Amino acid sequence: MCEKNRNYMYEMYSTMKKLKEQGEWANDFDKAVRCSKCGDWLPPYTRGRVHWCSCKSLGIDGTSHYTRVLYKENRPDQAEIREVEEVLKMTDW
Ligand SMILES: [Zn+2]
Repeated sequence: MCEKNRNYMYEMYSTMKKLKEQGEWANDFDKAVRCSKCGDWLPPYTRGRVHWCSCKSLGIDGTSHYTRVLYKENRPDQAEIREVEEVLKMTDW
């Protein structure tokens, strides 16, 4: 588990919640995505800058209007996706 990534996730989630409350969230996707290699979870919102997982295999570029998911190599057949709130409650990453 990477404390830095967890703090980042929490920070981005707080911003997402604020944007939703203000009616400024127009992104259909609001879930966290997990890197299948290092196990890091990334938030769907990253202030429009690409944020990479610890092993740099999975990157997310998310705004209030879209979430772009980037893979350094091949896109996996299935991606693990969960509610951000649920991921923040998990302790094993
Ligand atoms: Zn990774």
